[in-house]
Amino acid sequence: MKSLAFIACFAVLLSSCQKGNLEETAITFESVRVVIGKESSPALRNISGILERQITQRCDAKIETNKSSKSQLNIQLSIESGPGEEGFRIEDGKAGSVRIIGGNERGVLYGIGKFLRTARYDQGGFTPGVWRGESSPNGTFRAVYLATHFMNYYEAAPIEEVRHYIEDIGLWGYNTILVHYPTWQFDGLTDPGAQEWLKRFTTVLAHAKQCGLQVGLLQVPGEGYKNASEDLRRVEVPGHRRGNFGSNLCVNKPQACKLIMELHDGLLNEFKSVGLDYFTLWPYDEGGCACEHCWPWGARGYLDISKEVTKQVRAMFPHCKIVLSTWCFENEDDNNPDGEWVGLKKSLEEDNSWVNYIMADGHDDYFPKYLLEQGIPGQLPLVNFPEISMFGMNPWGGYGTNPAPAHFQKLWDRIKHEAVGGAPYSEGIYEDVNKAIIAGFYWNPNRKAEEIVREYISFEFSPDVADDMLEVVHIFEQNHARGYNGDFGITENAVRAFHLVSNAESKLTEEVKKSWRWRIFYLRALIDKEMFERKGKLEGETLKAAFDELTKIYHAGNAHSMPIKPPQIEN
Ligand SMILES: [Zn+2]
Repeated sequence: MKSLAFIACFAVLLSSCQKGNLEETAITFESVRVVIGKESSPALRNISGILERQITQRCDAKIETNKSSKSQLNIQLSIESGPGEEGFRIEDGKAGSVRIIGGNERGVLYGIGKFLRTARYDQGGFTPGVWRGESSPNGTFRAVYLATHFMNYYEAAPIEEVRHYIEDIGLWGYNTILVHYPTWQFDGLTDPGAQEWLKRFTTVLAHAKQCGLQVGLLQVPGEGYKNASEDLRRVEVPGHRRGNFGSNLCVNKPQACKLIMELHDGLLNEFKSVGLDYFTLWPYDEGGCACEHCWPWGARGYLDISKEVTKQVRAMFPHCKIVLSTWCFENEDDNNPDGEWVGLKKSLEEDNSWVNYIMADGHDDYFPKYLLEQGIPGQLPLVNFPEISMFGMNPWGGYGTNPAPAHFQKLWDRIKHEAVGGAPYSEGIYEDVNKAIIAGFYWNPNRKAEEIVREYISFEFSPDVADDMLEVVHIFEQNHARGYNGDFGITENAVRAFHLVSNAESKLTEEVKKSWRWRIFYLRALIDKEMFERKGKLEGETLKAAFDELTKIYHAGNAHSMPIKPPQIEN
């Protein structure tokens, strides 16, 4: 199967593959050469590097860089109009080559993602898939929000790992990386902590841009630094709107407003060379002031300060798009008693020109009733903010992977006719499979979560274990909810899940078995089985070793113990 003699019939075989059976016709290659078309750019060269890294980390195939050598498979990357701006087309090229054509650089990245996910890596080399065709995304704002605090993965992992992880996210169809500059952690721009944070995340975002992705900040516009004077601080907001690190200011105090303007001027300037494509404004769960001049926050103070900050953003980044979040405008209990939605609607009916998207979502299963019943204020496009990280499990990711396809399918089905994307909230890499599910929804709102999970398993592990691992995912979801000791709901099917995972492992390549994506699946199955057998008690060498390994995978050794660090068992 690896002989050069197969090159000649590659094109014929591939064309028959479209109608035929992958197992009968797929060819495995020992070497691959990636060729960039005349549109070559630094971003395309980086994207080509992502393709090469993906192939070499998954199998033994070599990347041929010498132009005069004959490699077995040529993959040609190019940009052409036709597949749509961010779309792609995969087609057969001349003499057994494969062409991946993007409408733009990101389109090439997404085409590569599709090409890689339909390939196999367990046949002794690289076995390209037979999928040929064209695809383009439905959603326009397909972001991931990477929380950067508590020494979570994004703060603590080696920067090279974070860069690779962002590339991997891009392959699933995301087009924007958002981060939050945590003013509440710092005394100002010159704070050494702030400088360290800025150095790291301007580097991370610059790398995302160099791979063709867009970047943005998500900020609470009334939030000051932690050394802000007490007399400038906000009046506590009523209701359960969570999040208050103590540095929120009253935006109707002139001195506070001046500080906020200075803060944003300084912050935006730090990102000048990176270039911001999106700026997301955030009202609560951090944020808000209930003084007589600011309240109702979502209809008055928040909008006033957001408009001012927007002017600053657009002065430096004229094409930057504004996402106005409405997080916690209402909750399950109060259902908007203070008229925030009504006030927002009225304001945007008068002038919606400063906002590009309305972002809405809620904790747990909640979605604001007002939007479901009354439509989107200002007739603006809706984007969501799915919480894929923290739901029902504490510490977050502390027990391994946390796939929840049924949960996310239910949430998405309520708004899929309206939403044009969004930004899942990510605290780390343990919810990687949930990121893939949401990316799939944003690309094609009618895709099913289960189908996306099958694609994920086939790509990351092996198509041969897809059925068994899908059952495992269903068991994981049934056994999902838990906290620390005493909050225990794992059922007997945890034993079956571990049996299925152990069987699946025997069918995987060494590369997959060593990969962190497999390990967090394996460890979740092991931890659940142990916890079931020990009636929820976190004890014993097996659990200790499993939690220690998760801590290492997440680089969580120095993480905030409560939400981020896996449970620690003392000897
Ligand atoms: Zn106020």
